[in-house]
Amino acid sequence: MNAQNTAIRTNRLNISPIEEWSVYKQRPLVIAGPCSAESEEQVMSTAAAIAASGRVDLFRAGIWKPRTRPDQFEGVGAIGLKWLRQVKEEYGLPVSVEVATEKHVYEALKHGLDAVWIGARTSVNPFAMNEIASALRGCDVMVFVKNPVNPDLELWLGALERISKAGITRLAAIHRGFSTWEKSAFRNQPRWQIAVELRQRIPDLGMILDPSHMGGNKSFITDLSQKAMDLNYDGLMIETHIDPASALSDKKQQVTPAELMALLDRLIFRSPTSNDPEYLETIEDLRNQIDIYDNLLLDILESRMQVAETIGRFKKEHNITILQSNRWKEVKDNAVDKGVRKGLTPEFVNIILEAIHQESITHQMNVMKEE
Ligand code: PEP
Ligand code: MN
Repeated sequence: MNAQNTAIRTNRLNISPIEEWSVYKQRPLVIAGPCSAESEEQVMSTAAAIAASGRVDLFRAGIWKPRTRPDQFEGVGAIGLKWLRQVKEEYGLPVSVEVATEKHVYEALKHGLDAVWIGARTSVNPFAMNEIASALRGCDVMVFVKNPVNPDLELWLGALERISKAGITRLAAIHRGFSTWEKSAFRNQPRWQIAVELRQRIPDLGMILDPSHMGGNKSFITDLSQKAMDLNYDGLMIETHIDPASALSDKKQQVTPAELMALLDRLIFRSPTSNDPEYLETIEDLRNQIDIYDNLLLDILESRMQVAETIGRFKKEHNITILQSNRWKEVKDNAVDKGVRKGLTPEFVNIILEAIHQESITHQMNVMKEE
């Protein structure tokens, strides 16, 4: 067994596949509702419109809001649980809330909520996760764990493991993106590969996209949701408010119930695979071609490193430094120009060349160290 298999074994969690327990009747599972519960009126009117659509599986509303700055609206608190309960009773919609402490869990359970989610500012903290996990022990609720604020797969995995160890089997992950210092169009960077890798590590884990917090603006929601469907995600969590312009939190990223329905109608579903023999034959042929090119790339890299080692020995004989800044700049600029002409993005060419350069330096250093 190789090291990777061992890692997968260790992470095997007792999770029920999402299609067996989720309330959803069609793909994707949809979690919708306002960022924050603000008043009974706002919660009930949003829920009425959402329930009428018949397309939402779980209602959401935050009542304890983990806001970045202290002067922002921090939620209505426990009173909001009564409104959520009312949504469940009047419209038959399962309801969920964000929990960040043991007390939140007890309050949510006491009010008969169907699901809880753990936010990005909480899943980052193993102490908080332990506390929440022990409060959830033995309870039969659905639990959704958002990715931690920073791009750390192990932390996300650890948060899920803690909840799983408390005996929760109806468990899924929510991908809401990662915060960065650099300003960019999105509020949080997707880093799709982290969620893809998480699914590989826990194959039964349901994956939900939260395009509202990822994009930070409602204009990005359709594209991000489509991308999630193309990556075979199981569901979407979309902040939906009866009157987004008057929302007390996350105003720019919330959609109305009507906009939510229009957006869901626009999604295109592609199957993860097909039984059509013609499709299977063609895809196999294309994948063989990819394998050939991947092998070629590795052969070329091997040859390139051999030349780098020869250069290393030659430089050693002549007592010359490894790093030659001018030469490196020239190599990179030429490659970026050439790559762009071949339809590659400059970012991609830069990343590849930097990685190759780093590897060449490592090989040259090893050669220089030789006796
Ligand atoms: C939320 O869902 O309202 C929320 C606070 O999200 P996040 O933890 O993703 O920031
Ligand atoms: Mn929000």
